[in-house]
This record gives sequence, structure tokens and C-alpha cells, in this order.
Amino acid sequence: MADPKITSLEIHQYEYSLKDLGRDYNGFNLVYTPGNSLKMVGCVIRILTDKGITGDFATGNFAELSTIPMFWHYLKGKPALQRERINDDIKRALRQVARIGLAQIDNALWDIAGKYYNAPIHKLLGGYKKSLPCYASTYHGDENGGLDCPEAFSEFALRCKEIGYPAFKIHGWSNAPIKKEIANVLGVRETVGDDMDLMLDPACELTTFGNALKVGWACDEAKFFWYEDPFRDGGISQFAHRKLRQLIKTPLLQTEHVRSLEPHIDFAIAEATDFVRGDVGYDGITGVMKLAHAAESLGIDIEFHGANPTVRQCMASVRNTNYYEMGLVHPNAQISHPSELYIDYDDSLEAVDSNGHISVPQKPGIGVEINWEWVNANRTNLIIYE
Ligand SMILES: [Mg+2]
Repeated sequence: MADPKITSLEIHQYEYSLKDLGRDYNGFNLVYTPGNSLKMVGCVIRILTDKGITGDFATGNFAELSTIPMFWHYLKGKPALQRERINDDIKRALRQVARIGLAQIDNALWDIAGKYYNAPIHKLLGGYKKSLPCYASTYHGDENGGLDCPEAFSEFALRCKEIGYPAFKIHGWSNAPIKKEIANVLGVRETVGDDMDLMLDPACELTTFGNALKVGWACDEAKFFWYEDPFRDGGISQFAHRKLRQLIKTPLLQTEHVRSLEPHIDFAIAEATDFVRGDVGYDGITGVMKLAHAAESLGIDIEFHGANPTVRQCMASVRNTNYYEMGLVHPNAQISHPSELYIDYDDSLEAVDSNGHISVPQKPGIGVEINWEWVNANRTNLIIYE
């Protein structure tokens, strides 16, 4: 078959609701809110080709698709297998808008490649892992009777350990007294014992360097595996994170909110992080695989952000990585994305096996099929570029 060429692009926008979830103090973080139903928006981008092969990628973030009108004229008619060329061109063309949109196109093109070669993406990447160890990644602490105190986090960590999880990550409270955050770090360690990796992700909520330092000292005492995005800078200051690294022992995991290969590696070379974070939603499979190999060249690990089939494809193909982020999870609330979106696929608290592992999807492309019946039934908008 001749190489497929891109003919059109569709954005399917849909709505769904999350039960028992709401927003916290300033309207951003998702937190357990019993009785509430939170309306959410998602979309699937679909690239169509002249050979009938289509590439799909699902994202919760419609803003990531806002730049497509700027470069659809470029994409139309391009050979769909030439991901490197397309990435290189879009990377330059979108430099004034933070390269938003590059990842979504790249991931959909990888789905096309998998279907063209009749293989899951991890096989195209030389992947070999059959299953992936997970950490339970919690919702932020709430004040509504769920994860509302250190004892509740401890109890939940223990439950995750009993399910099989080898690791547990706390997203703390957004604006609690720093003593409560510290008590949580120390309490969870004391409860689960030494044989579970623990991580802390304040998600950039700590308002001072001093508070980040105090919480970091607690992570040192409790032998945390990593400390992620403490500062209100949004996770991008190399200077601040290098200073923090000089004052604590716990490894830092930064660069979740840094886009593109070069600034990720600049961060590592500046000694401002210990692990690098890769996100397929920011940099695409092409970008995160380059980052994985660049991290390998430095002798360090990449940790992939978030739970979705595309992440599993990448992780199965990388040696220097530790854990799949199963989340967000909670003792009483469902996971933070729609369970109906894919067919025969599960990201949830109970999706792991007794060793805390999940499987690597084996169908062509991203490994699973989008549940189009469900997407169409919940669709609120369809945008077509042709
Ligand atoms: Mg994070």
C-alpha cells in the first residue's frame, strides 16, 4: 500500500459528568464532594487519510486543539507516516503559541502508524514490557469527609498497599496549614512501613520557599521516593529547584509543566531535578520518547505523567522509568476521567493485578479502541477541517 496521506481532521467534543466530585477553594483542583455531579468536557481528535486509516487521540483539554486553524493548511495532504518531519515543522511554526497542538497531532499520527503496520505502538518502538508497575495517585485532600485528614490518607495508603500497589502518591491539601501537610507525610510513612515507595505532589500549591523546604525536610525524614512540583512558580524555575535540591535529600521530580525536549534537558543539566517528567499531552509520543532517551544519556529516569493507553505504549518501550501513574484515585470517588471512553480498557483504583501492575494494550495503534458509540451519544460539538 502506498503511504497514506492526510485528508481531513475531526474534533469530536463530548460531555460527561463525574459523581461525588467538585472543585476546591479557588475553583481548580478536583476534590471529593459527596452528592455533587461535576460536568466535564473531553474531546477526541481524529485524523483521516486517503487509505481509509484513521488516527485517534483522546484528550481532556480542548485548549490543546485551539491552534489547529493555524496549521491545518500545512497538514492537509502530508504523508501521515512522516511524523518526524511534521513534528519538526510544527515545532517551529507554533513557537509563538508554546507549540500547543503539536502533541495531539503527533499522537494521532502514531495511531495511524500502528494501524498501518498492524501493530501496537510499543512494538514499533521496540517495546518489551508485558506489564507496568503503578502508583496510586490520589485526588487532592478535601474537607468533605474523604481524604480530609492525615489519618484518612494513611488508611487509604494501606488499602492501596493491600490491593497490591508498590507505591502511593499524595496530592495534599491546597491551602491547609503546612503542619497538616507535614503530619500527612510522616503519618503515611509510619502507617505503611518501609516497603512502599511514597511520593508527594503539592501540584505547585506551596506559596513560599520556606514551606517547600519544611515539607521537603519531612519527605527526607519519611524517605520519600520523590517530591514533585512544590512551588507556586508552576514548576518552571530552574534556580528555585536547584536551591531546594541543595537543602534537602529527597529526589525532585520536575518538568511536568515544561514543554519541548530542550528545556527539559536544560532543567536536568542545571541540576534542578533528579527525575524528568514526560507528558504525551504536551510533547507527543515522539517528544517523550526523545526525552526518555535523552534522560538515558544522562543516566536518569523519565516518569510519565497521567494514565492513558498512549502512556502505556511508551512506558512498555523504555528501560529507564519506574511507575505508571494510576489516578486520580480516592477511597470513595471514581477516577478522574470517563471509564466508558475506551472499549475493554480500565484505568481505576482496582484495575491493577495483585502485584500492582497493569497490562500493555495489544491492539494496533494506541492499543485500544475508542468507544465511538459512547462518544457519539455524548457529543456536543463536531468540528471538521478538510
Ligand atoms: Mg504532578
